Amino acid sequence: MTHDPNCLFCKIVAGLIPCKKVHEDEDILAFHDIHPWAPVHFLIIPKIHIASLAQVGPEHATLLGRIMTLAPRLALQEGCNPYPQGGFRLLSNTGAEGGQEVHHLHFHVMGGPRPWHRG
Ligand code: 5GP
Ligand code: ZN
Repeated sequence: MTHDPNCLFCKIVAGLIPCKKVHEDEDILAFHDIHPWAPVHFLIIPKIHIASLAQVGPEHATLLGRIMTLAPRLALQEGCNPYPQGGFRLLSNTGAEGGQEVHHLHFHVMGGPRPWHRG
C-alpha cells in the first residue's frame, strides 16, 4: 500500500490537510511540526505510506539515504545554527514503546538555541 486513506500524514501528502511546507519533491515532503519542541522543529516524511522504520527494507535504502542527506540542508535552511556550536537532533520514534503517535514514517528535525520546550 503506497497510500493509506486513514493516515494523517498521507492526508497531508494528498493536500487534504494543510501544512507549513519546508521542502517537497517527487518522493519526500518536509513540514513544520504542529507542536514544536524546539525553535526549529519540522518533520521529513516519504510520500509513500510506510508505517515506521520497523517496516523499512533494502528497497527503501535510496529513499532513506535521500532523507538523511536532506536533513542537514533543511536544518540550516530553517534556521538551525551551523555545526558544531549549533546542529540539530534527528529522531524517528518507532512503535508504541518508541513513543510513536503517527504511524507514517517520519523523522523529526529539531534545533535552535536551548532551552527547548522538551528534549
Ligand atoms: P511521533 O510522536 O509519532 O513521533 O510524532 C508525531 C508528530 O506529529 C508530533 O510531534 C505532532 O506534534 C505532529 N503532528 C500531529 N498531527 C499533526 C498535524 O496535523 N500537522 C502537523 N504539522 N504535525 C502534526
Ligand atoms: Zn501514511
